[in-house]
Amino acid sequence: MCIYPVNNSDMPETKNSEENKSFHNYEYLCIKRFQEDVLANQDNPNEETIELWNFIKRLLETMKDLHVSRAPGLQGLFWKFRFEKRIATDLWYLVVALDKRPHNLLEFLKHELSGDISHSGTPLSRYLSRHQFQEIHLDGIFKFYDQSSLPLEIFKCTNVEVLSLKGNSLTALPPDIGRLSNLRILTLTDNCLHNSSIPFTLTFCKALSHLYLDNNLLDALPGFLLSMPQLDTVYRHGNHNYFKSTFMWYHTDIHARIRSTNTREEALRKQKGLLQPSRLQDLAVQSVIASKQNFYEPGLFPTPVADYIGRLYRCYHVCDYCNSAEPLDRPGYKVYTFKTPYLGNTCVPFQHWACSYQCAEDIERPAHAEQRSHSAQLEAAYTSYIEEVQCTGTREIAHHRRKAGGRTKRSR
Ligand SMILES: [Zn+2]
Repeated sequence: MCIYPVNNSDMPETKNSEENKSFHNYEYLCIKRFQEDVLANQDNPNEETIELWNFIKRLLETMKDLHVSRAPGLQGLFWKFRFEKRIATDLWYLVVALDKRPHNLLEFLKHELSGDISHSGTPLSRYLSRHQFQEIHLDGIFKFYDQSSLPLEIFKCTNVEVLSLKGNSLTALPPDIGRLSNLRILTLTDNCLHNSSIPFTLTFCKALSHLYLDNNLLDALPGFLLSMPQLDTVYRHGNHNYFKSTFMWYHTDIHARIRSTNTREEALRKQKGLLQPSRLQDLAVQSVIASKQNFYEPGLFPTPVADYIGRLYRCYHVCDYCNSAEPLDRPGYKVYTFKTPYLGNTCVPFQHWACSYQCAEDIERPAHAEQRSHSAQLEAAYTSYIEEVQCTGTREIAHHRRKAGGRTKRSR
């Protein structure tokens, strides 16, 4: 039989302390399963499921007493238990966690199965706050239209510098992304994000330098990215067909680039007489959102207030020009602009939301003037390059001809 060495310091997770700074999808799935098995059935405990977690805990606790050499032996015992108990569910994540994070898993189970009812928060929030991870990798684990499963606890890990949510069929990013003040790299590759599903609160992430938006449903980049000077790299490939459709506005004028939105919804709302006076607290929330201030900043608002504003954030559009936020069903304007060049790309389209036609014009006019000026500069640089190549080419041809002529004469 082979399991772990006697010395706990030789166990896999402590071999690489850098790796232990990351929270992985298999750990999340373990905790989620634990929550479903144990917490959801607190009033009506299911002995079989709790037995599984107690078995895992006992198994991990015996490690010190087992003279073993390799981690897979632990998995062997687990598979045996699973076979005997006829657990049919796929528990691949538990097997991986046993191999990669035995210490963390044991610590988690000891704490959660201790019977201490003074715990606050969720098992996931306790696990995350205990380990203070710097990287979170939750790739490929959420199903289509399963947005509610994206755990908001991960956005409360203010130490996080790298967040990867690849391949999760996400149709929206929660406004809570703005809590991650130390976030440097955000990977949203292979999801179903469209322009308005990326919230303005992303601008609160002042350390964000790398943003991966490849293979989504974007027809342009969100306009507020232009107000994030620290962005160094924005990957947007794989949205090609959608971007292509936006380029039809490249040669158009202001009238085609400013498009009214939601007029039908507004007409319907008025028709039904649904226009009602706003509540004071809704007006206060709207005012905070309109200010574009980072309401997640520690000390600015009590946490429940910031949480409340975050929950309502999705109900508003934020004007890219002025300090205004309007409920989603109010009319506004979509504005398309083009940045030439943008972070290594020759030309990239952006989509903005404006609260009024005046704001839309104030976004479009300077952007259009800059586009024309930069494209003229690019064109001039291209023409001069072509002329230079042609001159060099002519000189080289003349030079080769002279050499060829000399050889011909000498060969005669
Ligand atoms: Zn405005």
